[in-house]
Amino acid sequence: MKRVLITGAAGFLGSHLSDRFIKEGFHVIGMDNFITGDSKNIKHLLDHSNFEFVEHDVTEYVDIQGNLDYILHFASPASPIDYLKIPIQTLKVGSLGTHNLLGLAKAKNARMLIASTSEVYGDPLVHPQTEDYYGNVNTIGPRGVYDEAKRFQESITMAYHRFHGIETRIVRIFNTYGPRMRLNDGRVIPAFMGQALRGEDLTVFGDGSQTRSFCYVDDQVEGIYRLLFSDYVEPVNIGNPFEISIKDFAEEIIKLTGTTQKIIYKDLPVNDPMQRQPDISLAKRILDWEPKVHRAEGMKITFDYFKSLTEEELYKSEHKSFSGFIKK
Ligand code: NAD
Ligand code: UDP
Repeated sequence: MKRVLITGAAGFLGSHLSDRFIKEGFHVIGMDNFITGDSKNIKHLLDHSNFEFVEHDVTEYVDIQGNLDYILHFASPASPIDYLKIPIQTLKVGSLGTHNLLGLAKAKNARMLIASTSEVYGDPLVHPQTEDYYGNVNTIGPRGVYDEAKRFQESITMAYHRFHGIETRIVRIFNTYGPRMRLNDGRVIPAFMGQALRGEDLTVFGDGSQTRSFCYVDDQVEGIYRLLFSDYVEPVNIGNPFEISIKDFAEEIIKLTGTTQKIIYKDLPVNDPMQRQPDISLAKRILDWEPKVHRAEGMKITFDYFKSLTEEELYKSEHKSFSGFIKK
């Protein structure tokens, strides 16, 4: 049985990846320190004979007994609010954490895939974003801690590949959503859905003309799975190219949820990218992959998930009054 280590396993993407690898017959070692994750996301896996969980911070030396065939490094704060709140941990998990895991990959002769992001393109001047675009990142801005950690992560991964001959893969993930996102992580989908459920107005940042392109989690997991088993070493965009402005998206959410609340406008966060849309020609060509789930379908499943949360979960919102990211 092939063994795979998934870091960030108690998070949104890590838990869905754990499900997929269990389903495909792998032995999964899930690792997480719960800094932004939730044990609830992997509760259903804990009794599975092919799943083991290790609570560990990957910025410290990572020790795994026995052989390892694959490593998927998904540990990292992933929402703008999270990485503003824990900037040093964000830098460390992308740099020191990645270094530790590459060392482990080298020792075990394992193939390693890293979760990179569309944020490596920063506030992009090329649209849609192709993998050969180098990006437009403000290194010292509040998002720099995440963007630069991810850029460093890509660099060190390629260096281990070139210098040590490690088998590596790099996925550049564009905004992905679905069940198990944290309701209060500040990302736009949980934010709008939580507001609709609590009977609050929907907060659009700026004038809402900035765009995003949302990918349903099952499509994302399929793309990552195919990339891992492909022989392509350089970064690959995985995301859904259907682009929408945040204002239009808020209106879609109002219709979907049936809320009687309205849109209110708040200041735009510093360095908030004005447009984002993946060019997925490369993924189509080399992985024969493209997203299958339409936004309406994916949003409905996601809203059903948020509706199923308890009152306590719905009102627990540690980030509510957190405004350090907003332009004054
Ligand atoms: P998430 O916050 O739900 O999951 C991240 C997990 O990593 C959490 O469970 C957290 O506790 C864990 N973690 C963080 N630091 C750790 C450390 N030092 N040691 C061990 N565990 C640690 O976020 P997500 O949306 O599932 O994102 C997962 C990965 O995908 C991240 O690397 C993120 O940068 C990347 N990504 C996600 C998206 C998206 O739209 N969801 C987009 C681009 C990139
Ligand atoms: N956004 C918003 N209202 C919110 C939360 C987010 O208008 O309550 C906007 C945010 O400014 C950004 C977009 O929605 O333009 C997507 O934000 P998110 O935090 O989900 O991810 P990002 O793509 O910026 O990393």
